[in-house]
Amino acid sequence: MNIIDFHTHPFLRDENNSCFYGDTVTSENFVKTLKSAGIDHICGSVIYKTESFEGIKKLNREALEIKKQWGDFYTPGMHIHPHYVKESIEELDFMYQNGVRLVGELVPYYNGWSLYYDEAMHAIYEEIERLGMIVSVHTDMKVDMDNLEKAVKRFKNITFVAAHPHQREHYYKHIELLKKYDNYYLDLSGTGLFRFGMLGTLIKNVGSEKILFATDFPITNPKMYVEAVKFEKLMDNELENVFYKNAERLLKGVE
Ligand SMILES: [Zn+2]
Repeated sequence: MNIIDFHTHPFLRDENNSCFYGDTVTSENFVKTLKSAGIDHICGSVIYKTESFEGIKKLNREALEIKKQWGDFYTPGMHIHPHYVKESIEELDFMYQNGVRLVGELVPYYNGWSLYYDEAMHAIYEEIERLGMIVSVHTDMKVDMDNLEKAVKRFKNITFVAAHPHQREHYYKHIELLKKYDNYYLDLSGTGLFRFGMLGTLIKNVGSEKILFATDFPITNPKMYVEAVKFEKLMDNELENVFYKNAERLLKGVE
């Protein structure tokens, strides 16, 4: 089966390698490792802890460089930064002209900001909406989800893909938002899938149309995610939706 991984962090320069364990993953074996786990296509941003806009731009340029090298295998995601609104808007336009249609994964705590909705982000979302781009956002127990909800509610024409199901209250908050907003999606990367039954319960509650397969590679073991999804005993059409159909539809929609 075709598998699209909606959330990875590719890199060329070693300092942007997010693998916890040294040279297990290198820029040379990155694609091969994913393919050997059964993954046919990836999306995602290059990440590194930086708070300057020069740093942000460097990550975005690296994503473009990777796209050049890896071609059809990779859908690049870009960064913006709410402390630099004007620069972010210019950067959106520049990246859009270079074929980029995905913003994120945004990882605010890596880049010295925190709120997904405020005056600065409002201005940035206006440009994202105008360009018709998708936004992928990191979530965890410390992220203000009510604040994220404000952005999702205010910008109904932007598709927001939240990362990481997590568990307990956080997981149920995702379910609440998935039910409430057509433009809210969830990717399966990071914490969540290792709790057996998480995905089946999610689909029972909200259907399979807004759930995207994702790993967070090279932070995580990609094969573990592929097998975890398969082991949840979904219907064939649900499995297809999660593994590639939903992502394909989203990405085609912004071509
Ligand atoms: Zn991530």
